[in-house]
Amino acid sequence: MNLDYDPELVKFREDVRSYFERDYPKDILDKVARGASLTTPEVRKAEMALGAKGWLASAWPAEYGGPGWSIEEQYIFDDELERAGAPTVTPMGVVYVGPVVYTFGTDEQKAQWLPGIADGSVGWAQGYSEPGAGSDLASLQFSAVRDGDEYILNGTKIWTSAANHADWIFLLTRTSQEAKKQMGITFICAQLDQPGVTVKPIISIDGKYHLSQVDFVDVRVPVANRIGEEGKGWTYSQYLLGNERTSYARIGGKRSQLASIRAIASQIPTGGNQRLIDDRAFAARLSAAEMRVDALEITTLRVLCSVKDGGSPGNEASILKIMATETAQEITGLFCVAAGEHGMRKFADSVSPAWTGKAAFAAPGVATYLGTRAQSIYGGTNEIQRNIIAKHVLGL
Ligand SMILES: Cc1cc2nc3c(=O)[nH]c(=O)nc-3n(C[C@H](O)[C@H](O)[C@H](O)COP(=O)(O)OP(=O)(O)OC[C@H]3O[C@@H](n4cnc5c(N)ncnc54)[C@H](O)[C@@H]3O)c2cc1C
Repeated sequence: MNLDYDPELVKFREDVRSYFERDYPKDILDKVARGASLTTPEVRKAEMALGAKGWLASAWPAEYGGPGWSIEEQYIFDDELERAGAPTVTPMGVVYVGPVVYTFGTDEQKAQWLPGIADGSVGWAQGYSEPGAGSDLASLQFSAVRDGDEYILNGTKIWTSAANHADWIFLLTRTSQEAKKQMGITFICAQLDQPGVTVKPIISIDGKYHLSQVDFVDVRVPVANRIGEEGKGWTYSQYLLGNERTSYARIGGKRSQLASIRAIASQIPTGGNQRLIDDRAFAARLSAAEMRVDALEITTLRVLCSVKDGGSPGNEASILKIMATETAQEITGLFCVAAGEHGMRKFADSVSPAWTGKAAFAAPGVATYLGTRAQSIYGGTNEIQRNIIAKHVLGL
């Protein structure tokens, strides 16, 4: 793979970059740059803009509404989206459930769900975790009881991201109590806007509303909403998690953050003629973070290139998940160091009036720092990823 020199890929990158610079909705970019949360209509607008280009479901094969891009093209697209400061595409539809539908779903399910995911008009949420089932997901108790052509759903899902923007949710449900708890789990899709479903907000540490508790009381859904076989949901859920854990790399965004930190640190005075970047400990941390992003990029490409014919990355994705999330936490921590330096300088504004009002980066930076703590929790905690690597990658 040669991302830098292949002329076709260079041209592809230019086209994608020019789209984000010229045609992508500016109001969305401005709002994201301010660190503000998007409303549901804004999320739809952002995703439908990409959908209209046929670019939203960037990893899907053309036959299901994707652009049919190579791994390199997908990677460049993600990189440019992040570089442009566009909001991350909500992954629950295009990255998580979409591939499950086109891999394990019926033709009717493909026709029903894939077009709305690929064009960005329909939002999805992921209903895996429960109050008593997080790391030990297989102990989930959300129940689905068969009644003729329907399942009756009862239970609670929690920490459900983007449920406030979603129309549908894919659920891991228990359809029978088997001795092995991974058995008896069934993968069912349900509409959120129906009687018996309540979406309750949870405000997270960054002060934002993006998480919910979702309660189901006697909600009936057609058996046709079940993906694959009853009792085999665990298999589909693990296929999905492989894709989820690969999606955390977000190299372009990390490089933009590092560039801003370097620019900020090159301006902030820490005393005398010294700038923050002249502080050797800070400069070493920043360089180490830049090298970690390089290593993450290469590792991501290695894992992606090893995925053949639309398969899931499997257990190796756990390596990426740890690398990506720890790197994100380190980078956002550097933002806080820079913001802290500036906070100290504010007391000296009478001495250095030029600095007044120049810390616009600080508030969104700190919110991002706080929000990024969650990255080592969601998608399976990093402790659980280490268990997976030990058992299934290293065979210990
Ligand atoms: C911001 C955010 C967004 C989320 N979005 C979603 C979503 O959209 N959909 C969804 O279904 N879920 C979502 N989650 C839930 C997430 O997947 C769970 O929080 C996660 O799996 C951990 O489960 P838990 O919170 O129950 O913690 P627990 O499982 O109770 O873990 C508590 C601690 O014990 C450690 N631990 C537990 N078991 C082991 C073990 N065997 N070995 C070593 N250490 C262990 C964990 O690493 C953790 O540090 C989200 C969570 C967050 C924070």
